[in-house]
Amino acid sequence: MNNNNSCKPESNLYRPVIDLNKCESDGRCVKVCPKEVLIMKEMTSEENSRLTLKGKLKTLVHGKLKASVLNPDACQACGDCMRVCPENAIKLEQKITGSFFEWAKNKGNIRIKTQEGDERRLYDMITQQLGDYPINSPF
Ligand code: SF4
Repeated sequence: MNNNNSCKPESNLYRPVIDLNKCESDGRCVKVCPKEVLIMKEMTSEENSRLTLKGKLKTLVHGKLKASVLNPDACQACGDCMRVCPENAIKLEQKITGSFFEWAKNKGNIRIKTQEGDERRLYDMITQQLGDYPINSPF
């Protein structure tokens, strides 16, 4: 762990997102993170089933242990995890926050139109941020 204090002022608006197709169990991101946001964790069979063919081949070679986001709210957007990843498997994404997110959470049943191909990504983003909140999967 380092003591990087170079966080951006808007740092609490970002969270790391791991591309499991690219992650090769290196673990440097976990060690470098100053806020203990990331852990190494074995993929679930559902996550494994969603990998691309290339991702599945990588997993066969490197194992199912992947970087995972444990505590997204602690992320300070320093970018250290991105810099040390040899596979460019991590990026910082803006969190879904604000009145729309609260409204959608309270409404319980909403439809969101996305660009074709982005549905799965949006669904994953929303469910990761809702935590245990019950949501019906369209997939
Ligand atoms: S951006 Fe910085 S604080 Fe956020 S997960 Fe990566 S290393 Fe940790």
